[in-house]
Amino acid sequence: MKSELEVTQEMQQVVEQMRLDDLEENPDLENEIFDCDCCGKSKPLAGSVLYENSYRLCNDCVLYAEVGFELKKIKCIQELIDAMEDKRLEEICEFIKKDEASMKN
Ligand SMILES: [Zn+2]
Repeated sequence: MKSELEVTQEMQQVVEQMRLDDLEENPDLENEIFDCDCCGKSKPLAGSVLYENSYRLCNDCVLYAEVGFELKKIKCIQELIDAMEDKRLEEICEFIKKDEASMKN
């Protein structure tokens, strides 16, 4: 059984790899900007993922989504979007922040 931190670390690598793969295929994707359906920010297309044929999430939100699915904190993207709006994502964010902090050491 993996710890939540291990899951987060693994997903960070997977999601970062998606971004790198996208850029390898088409370096212009870094300059192609879209509005993320989850965080609402303007983000590069590189590393973004289309979920359920209707939500395009930026690379940052893909990480939240994948960690959320893996840890069974969310069941669908709409839940993630709702959580994002209500700022109820702290639990997931907490792990990601901790992990980023530990990677710097
Ligand atoms: Zn986003």
